[in-house]
Order: sequence, then structure tokens, then C-alpha cells
Amino acid sequence: MLTLYNTLTRKLEGFKPLKGKKVGLYSCGPTCYDYPHIGNYRAYVFVDLLKRYLLYKGYKVKHIMNITDVDDKTIRNSQKEGVSLKDFTRKYEQAFFDDIKTLHILPANKYPMATGHIKEMVAITKALMKKGIAYKGEDGSIYYDIGKFNDYGKLANIDTSKLKAGASGRVKKDEYSKDDVQDFALWKSWTKDDGAVFWQTELGKGRPGWHLECSAMSTKNLGKTFDIHCGGIDLIFPHHQNEIAQSEGWTGKKFVNYWLHNEWLLVNGQKMSKSLGNFYTLRDVLAKGYSPVAVRYLLLSTHYRQQLNFTFEGVDAAKAAIERLNELIRRLQGLKNSDENKKTLSTLKNEVKEGTRIFEAAMDDDLNISEALAAVFDFVKTVNASVDSGAMGKESAAEALSFLKNVDSVLGVMSFAAEEDLPKELTKLIEERERLRKEKKFAEADKIRAKLQEKGIQLDDTPEGVKWKKIK
Ligand code: AMP
Ligand code: ZN
Repeated sequence: MLTLYNTLTRKLEGFKPLKGKKVGLYSCGPTCYDYPHIGNYRAYVFVDLLKRYLLYKGYKVKHIMNITDVDDKTIRNSQKEGVSLKDFTRKYEQAFFDDIKTLHILPANKYPMATGHIKEMVAITKALMKKGIAYKGEDGSIYYDIGKFNDYGKLANIDTSKLKAGASGRVKKDEYSKDDVQDFALWKSWTKDDGAVFWQTELGKGRPGWHLECSAMSTKNLGKTFDIHCGGIDLIFPHHQNEIAQSEGWTGKKFVNYWLHNEWLLVNGQKMSKSLGNFYTLRDVLAKGYSPVAVRYLLLSTHYRQQLNFTFEGVDAAKAAIERLNELIRRLQGLKNSDENKKTLSTLKNEVKEGTRIFEAAMDDDLNISEALAAVFDFVKTVNASVDSGAMGKESAAEALSFLKNVDSVLGVMSFAAEEDLPKELTKLIEERERLRKEKKFAEADKIRAKLQEKGIQLDDTPEGVKWKKIK
């Protein structure tokens, strides 16, 4: 059974969805105020690993990820650039979509935008006011009275009893520290600093608070109670704590059953972040010649609840690990003769069975990726030895390939493109071009590229060497 560490209970719990094999999953998405850095992608790759493993186990996953296209930071930065909020956020939203595709992150079922859900957020705020949980401050903003919510602080494990006594403090900012436990803004009244960004609603002229968007968009798409909510550990407080207060205060029902949070990607022992300036965007890393799958592998190969220190040696090691997997795939695809004898296949089948068992047991244990990968690499070692011995043929190769495909549905890093599909003469031309390029005879190399293009083969020079694809 899959067990997951639930931040809410601080325990490993057996995973049981509300509706049989259907899973409702919500993860906090990007705030579109700059290019995401690879620390942000650690959070998204973690959710992708979780989701892919749920799919592997036969669950049907409905995944919703919000896009924050209005908040303090987006407004401030769009003003600095002198462009409209929409034009500003659209650019970073597009960068995000490009990057997740590059990183083999499976798309969510929906990416709702905060600016498209003002109506829903107004409705929740009104309901909270009606219940006496939210109130209008002198500044016209509407605040959540945390003193009215018994479990406030439970997720973040903070004792609010002392603070409740004088719970008159208010905070209008979206982000603040654990020491600032205060009533927070659901609806922010317009100020000069907001410029052209406001909505005229029944709550007055203003804009929603950041926390409210996730309550509105998750419940709209997944129902008032749903299975899993994810995000980085910085979101536990105040963001997720406030989501719980808003949603449960409004519906009277439990908001989320399992809360999962990923640890930091660090640089030299410090959190990678925009504000510290110690960050790399995905584009920065790729520009150094690294492949996206190496970045993906690096981000997923440390357990999500452990900190991960980012280094380029780490990306090199990730690249080498992927090469080892792909080399075996190529070797297996190259086996055209039959197995030496029947025993080869039955031995291989046993190894697949054992590899699968260890892989699943590890992943079931709160996504213990290190052990899962160790099982995969043990398999790679054994199978390489079998190929070396000459015993293995196409039947057992097919079996081994199918195991690798299976685990790669979770990992998303291997390459199964069958290079052998290309006629020999074309493969020879590609090799010839590679040789010419190494000798810096670029004009001749380009002629071969053009010739291949005519034959419907397009070449791409990637950091991992030349790749081809059919274009006709
Ligand atoms: P943001 O766009 O700032 O709202 O962040 C998007 C996601 O990235 C959130 O889930 C954050 O918790 C996560 N995140 C930000 N920095 C890091 C980091 N250095 N390591 C891991 N996750 C991070
Ligand atoms: Zn959120």
C-alpha cells in the first residue's frame, strides 16, 4: 500500500482516496512575476513524480494547478516594466509552460488563473462575512478573523493561543513569517500602489488576497474535500494554513486529507531563491550544455523531504546515470538473434519480477526514490552482464525493455527512440557528418545535413550528440 507523509498529522499514512481509484490532486503553481528557477521546478518535478506513480498504480488522477497572475509581486514588477499586468504575467506563464514540457512534466488537467476566478473568491469572502468569520477593516479590506477558527496553526504546528487574545493585528501582505500570526486579508481594498489593477465588486474596489485563490480554484475543480494538496515547505505557513482556515471556515468540511510538502533545493547550503540572488533558471542550466532530462533526474533523485544541494557536478552525475540507462536500452534494441536457450528468458523474467517488487516497495514507502533507483540500477548491472555473456537475445531483451519502459513511466528520463529503424546508408551519412564536424569541415557537414533533409530526416545537434527525426 502506498504510504505518504502527511504534514497535517506529521505521520506516514496509508493512502486511501475518497472515491475508489480516483484521486483529486491540487498543487500550488507559479506566480508569474519572473522566470521560475530550478528550485521552483523541484516542487513541480516532485508533484510530477507523485502523480506519475499514482498513475503507475492504476489511479485516475485529476490534477489542478493554479496560475497566480495577480498578487503583490506581479503588480509591483509589471509596474516597474511599465506594462499591463496581463501582458506582463503572460510572458512568464508561457515560459513556465515551455519549461514544464521541456522537463517532461505531465500536464495538469487544468491550469486555472486567479484573475479568472474573482467571482468565486468574492462569493467565499461574502459567505465568511455572513458567518462572522471575516470582517471589514477601517481600510476597506476584508480580513479573516483567525480567532474564529479553532484549528488555526495546526498545519504549521504553531501555538496561536497567546496570539488569539489580542487578535486585532492584521496583515495585508501575502507573505509573512511564522512570527507574524495575524488576521490576513481575503480582499484587499485598492490603494494608489495598485494602479490600474482592481476589480469593482460587491466587496468594494480592490483585488483578492493570494491565499484565497487556491481555496477557490481547488474546491471549484475538485470539490469541497479532496485528496492531496502539495507545495514547497515555505507554503505551509501562512499560505496553506490560510487555505485551510478559509475553506473549512466556509464549507464546515475537512478541506484536504493529505498535505505533502517538498524540501528546498539549496545552493551552498542556502535556499535557492530570487531574493537571495543565488538561483539558476532552467534556461541558465541548459545554456551550459546540459540536457533537460539531466536536470529532471537531479531534481527527482533525492527524496522530496530531504534538502538537495545543487551543484553542476550533481548535474554531471545525473547525466551519467541517464546515459547508463540509455546505453543499455540501445544494447537491448540491438539484439536481433534469439536467446541462447529457454533459461535465459525465465531468469530474466525473475529479475524483472524482483526489480519490480523492490521498485514498488520503495516507491510505496513515501516515494523512496533512492531505493527505487537502486533497484533499477541493480537490474541494469545484471542485464548488462547477461548481454556481455552473449546469452541474451531478442526475447529476453524485449522483456527487459518492457521493465525499463514501465519504470520510466514514473521517472520520465529514458530515451527509447529506436535508432535502428533508420536504414544503414542513412546512419552512415549521419556518422560521416559527425566525423566532418569534428574535423571542422562544416561546409561538407552541412551538405550531408541538407541531403538527409531531402530524404525526410531532420538532424538536431544536442548536448548529448546528434539526434534525428523523420519529417516526412
Ligand atoms: P512561487 O512561484 O514563488 O509561488 O513558488 C512556486 C513553488 O516553488 C512553491 O511550491 C515553492 O514552495 C517552491 N520553491 C521555491 N523555491 C524553492 C526551492 N529553493 N526549493 C524547492 N522548492 C522551492
Ligand atoms: Zn496555493
